[in-house]
Amino acid sequence: MRRHLKSKLLFLCALSLLSAGCSEVPISGRQQFNIVPGSTMNSLSFKSYGEFLAQNKLSTNAEQTQMVKRVGGRIQKAVENYSAENGYEDRLDGYEWEFNLVEDPNVNAWAMPGGKVVVYTGILPIAQGETGLAVVMGHEIAHAFVKHGAERMSQGLLVQMGGIALSTALEDYPDQTKDLFMQSYGVGAQVGVLLPYSRKHESEADHLGLVFMAMAGYNPEQAPAFWERMAAQKKGAAGPEFLSTHPADQTRIQNLKDLLPEAMTYYRRTQ
Ligand SMILES: [Zn+2]
Repeated sequence: MRRHLKSKLLFLCALSLLSAGCSEVPISGRQQFNIVPGSTMNSLSFKSYGEFLAQNKLSTNAEQTQMVKRVGGRIQKAVENYSAENGYEDRLDGYEWEFNLVEDPNVNAWAMPGGKVVVYTGILPIAQGETGLAVVMGHEIAHAFVKHGAERMSQGLLVQMGGIALSTALEDYPDQTKDLFMQSYGVGAQVGVLLPYSRKHESEADHLGLVFMAMAGYNPEQAPAFWERMAAQKKGAAGPEFLSTHPADQTRIQNLKDLLPEAMTYYRRTQ
């Protein structure tokens, strides 16, 4: 997205001229701009997610599948409790959380809008157990909770449709909305190859993910070690897919370390 448009949006957010589309992200406090209705986002997402599951093989390892569902379910509960206690229930309207493990050697995991999460078996050796898995899933659940996908689509809609999108309901433009979603999340063989999020979205998902895993009772102190293991993967012949969108560099790892004291206050309450 062009820089000047983005700063203009945030300026308008600051002036509350776009109050309908602006809101503050819980925990990070960042102002975000979103004009895509949750119902639109969710219906597009659920369809794509269903197609992905139909075209890919679910893991037959019951133990690992249960672990993915257990970790996802615990973090989901933490997000729901936090939202209920802080007046953010609306953010989760229409969510249908789902956590699936697919049989695929790629080192990957992602979340689609509305709480649809996929973990690839290839990432499990790097997760090395539940807490490492909670780092990945907390991060992906944070993307879904903050609605980074809808934010990205909102920016795309403004670029493609200009001011019309501001004054007209998106339901009047279902085709454009669908096209943008497909560009963001892909279809068929392409599903699961998500466009990389911006650095800002990635850092925010790291931040909220760390807090959410802590709220769910997983020790966030293990997060930097997980990213160190991811970084070590990069040295292999073909870098994992997850790393192309999630560079595990020292900046990322240092940022996580800086966020640990905050996350630990939530973790201690669960102990
Ligand atoms: Zn991410």
